[in-house]
Amino acid sequence: MTLRTATAIIDLPALISNFCYIKKQSPQGKVLAVLKANAYGHGLARIANALSESTNQADAFGVARLDEALALREAGITKPIVLLEGFFVHKDLDVIAEYELQTIIHNQEQLSLLCSATLAKPIKVWLKIDTGMHRLGIAPEEFRTFYGQLNQSKNVDPDIILMSHLSCADNAESQATPNQIALFNQVTEGLNKSKSLANSAGICLWPESHFQWIRPGLMLYGVSPISEQLSANQPNLKPVMTLQSSLIAIRNIAKGEAVGYGGTWQAPRDTTIGVIAIGYGDGYPRHAQNGTPVLVNDRIVPLIGRVSMDMITVDLGKNSQDCIGDIATLWGKGLPVENVAKCATTIPYELLCNISRRVQVTVK
Ligand SMILES: *Cc1c(COP(=O)(O)O)cnc(C)c1O
Repeated sequence: MTLRTATAIIDLPALISNFCYIKKQSPQGKVLAVLKANAYGHGLARIANALSESTNQADAFGVARLDEALALREAGITKPIVLLEGFFVHKDLDVIAEYELQTIIHNQEQLSLLCSATLAKPIKVWLKIDTGMHRLGIAPEEFRTFYGQLNQSKNVDPDIILMSHLSCADNAESQATPNQIALFNQVTEGLNKSKSLANSAGICLWPESHFQWIRPGLMLYGVSPISEQLSANQPNLKPVMTLQSSLIAIRNIAKGEAVGYGGTWQAPRDTTIGVIAIGYGDGYPRHAQNGTPVLVNDRIVPLIGRVSMDMITVDLGKNSQDCIGDIATLWGKGLPVENVAKCATTIPYELLCNISRRVQVTVK
């Protein structure tokens, strides 16, 4: 018998289906597919290739680090690649020019370095304005100065893209997003340039934020960016990653017996528990609480006891028919990662990008 250890099944047709759904939300918009953090744990080159090959092609890719961009070029990706935090040090500029990468400019230091550099060819720039997130971006009052200097620099491609980032787009009630959209429109008014504002939540809930370039991350991977209370607005997405492992032990536990490190869980009645070969060493969240859902043989069973490095335990119930070798799904098809994240007091983003190198990958 060969038992499946922790395995992430990556469903590329689901990715393409999500991509098509996103395109439909913004038919005129170009798509910058966000692939940072190993494509949210799904495999950088794998996802980039899938969104380059088919008839459903992304228009550009977004990453956070220069190394991620270079890994994409090494994998043969020729599409535009945007560095979403810009460049960090002066020597990055030569690499950016050589590999025809695009960079965000979000502060004075970057502007000065770019304008004073001697480059083999001009670089394409996305100018980031802070419209309320207060993380990266130039102040609205600085915009005209930055824009003017970029326009005059021989190092800058004249086709400058204007962008900002939304802080509360997943909250349909919040006034923050209309305020950000209004400020973005005001600052960039009258400029015939491409503009970009929407992340996944903006794509779902705020059509006025779409402009010429949308920037989906989470949605591409089949995870809803908005809470389930907004059921009317729930996007039609399919999970791309399904995380599975198998039952490697099944044992009867008498009422009152404790299970796992610290003995933090005690059986409230006689029952059968299952041990599943996955733990925080695979990226399963250590802080998942008792009761976190796990899918075993088409039913949800609760996680019990502490998550170990290589194992978790679940309560299968007294008369369970489950066997060693049966597959358990930790999230994905049949069990949204959103539900698991909630039980681990985190967000789906963190669970997906924390999948460790030990996890085997199978591509559908
Ligand atoms: C990560 C990121 C996105 C994608 O956000 P999602 O919520 O995953 O859609 C878009 N734009 C920027 C600048 C980002 O850093």
